[in-house]
Amino acid sequence: MQLEFFGAAGEVTGSCHILTVGGRRLLLDCGMIQGGAAPEERNRAAFPFDAAQVDAVILSHAHIDHCGRLPLLRNRGFRGPIYANPACRDLVRILLADGATMAERDAERENRRRKKAGDARRVEPLYTLEDAQAVLALFRTVRYGHATEVLPGVELVFRDAGHILGSASVWLRLREGDLERRLVFSGDLGQYDTPILCDPETGPGADLVLMESTYGDRRHRDRDATLEEFGSILRAARDDGGNVLIPAFAVGRSQEILYALATHFEAWSLADRQIFLDSPMAIEATEVYWKHANLFDEEAQQWHARARSLPPLPNLKLSRTADESMAINKIPHGAIVIAGSGMCTGGRIVHHLKHNLGRPECDVVFSGFQAQGTTGRAIVDGRDYVRIHGEPIKVAARVHTLGGFSAHGDQQDLLRWYEAIPGRPPVWLVHGESQAADGLRDALRAKGARADVAIPGLTLDLGAAA
Ligand SMILES: [Zn+2]
Repeated sequence: MQLEFFGAAGEVTGSCHILTVGGRRLLLDCGMIQGGAAPEERNRAAFPFDAAQVDAVILSHAHIDHCGRLPLLRNRGFRGPIYANPACRDLVRILLADGATMAERDAERENRRRKKAGDARRVEPLYTLEDAQAVLALFRTVRYGHATEVLPGVELVFRDAGHILGSASVWLRLREGDLERRLVFSGDLGQYDTPILCDPETGPGADLVLMESTYGDRRHRDRDATLEEFGSILRAARDDGGNVLIPAFAVGRSQEILYALATHFEAWSLADRQIFLDSPMAIEATEVYWKHANLFDEEAQQWHARARSLPPLPNLKLSRTADESMAINKIPHGAIVIAGSGMCTGGRIVHHLKHNLGRPECDVVFSGFQAQGTTGRAIVDGRDYVRIHGEPIKVAARVHTLGGFSAHGDQQDLLRWYEAIPGRPPVWLVHGESQAADGLRDALRAKGARADVAIPGLTLDLGAAA
């Protein structure tokens, strides 16, 4: 009985852990590596195991850094079941399709570049839309709290991780001969009291915990203060006579923004605005959220029961087509536009930025992390000009960053989750940059827990580990 750390140890993306029980092999997540050095090559590289010899996959949630290499796994011979929550499966469909579209576009761009340079070699996309669809046929859905035997000697229970819809921590009971071990993989954990989603849950106990540490050394900004700030930005924008642009990730953040608008509709005087969800992917994700409203927390369930249908705001327009999106650019004031991409690297937000960024009466509201080198980061960093479609665009609009929206729990949340598990089991930290992982390790040790940071390639003998 063994556990090997493969991806995401010492970095934030590319989650994948390999569990061997009774000679069978199981993957916990199979995520895409994003950012860092040569991610494309690392994603293309062979797995450190034979994909055809993997018996099953357990998927914690739909983010691409947890599920993004599943199509590659299948292409390389994997045909086993992939276990996930039903809402997770529905979101994976959207996220993998988007990933395939981007991979195909990147490959096309690279091939054009090579052709120009006289290089006859062509690259294939990492995976195609067909590959993404094919892998969905392998999914088997398991609801929270239901014990399921996924392989002989491996019993799985998913518990809500409160991170995005359908996200789960993975609670396993493993048997090999006389040996029995309870292993918990946290997946990504959300904040407590987050809107829409339920709080992260724990279970009856464990011999070993594998735990994420993305914000293991940080405190998030207070959510109420964040909402207050959001409200005052929107109220001030109304008096200034401009538009408000909100770059947002299609899955999770867009729904959270919509929910904030819907639940503060009167307080923020939104009735005379035109609100747009300008992203086919975010619209699809919102439909998935709506379909799985049984997973919402109590407050959101009550709201859902009152709202009855999509869109959940009387003046919200779902812009599906490019024409509908372009028409928004004719509106001089009073529009609130939620559009992707979240870091302004592409998508429809780019057009809206082009039309509104140079106008001092407009506002741009960021609510998510902006990576180095992205247009979003350049705007947040206070540059006077940014390049959009090769053109320099003056940044005259007011720029705001809301700090309290995060799908990840902070150090307090992570400690609270751990402390709810009886018996203070030993912890291995994964899925965090080293500073964050070290911060959480020290905080856990201060609470008397045995905590260590996992390194890639490390193999634990679970028989000896507990
Ligand atoms: Zn995640």
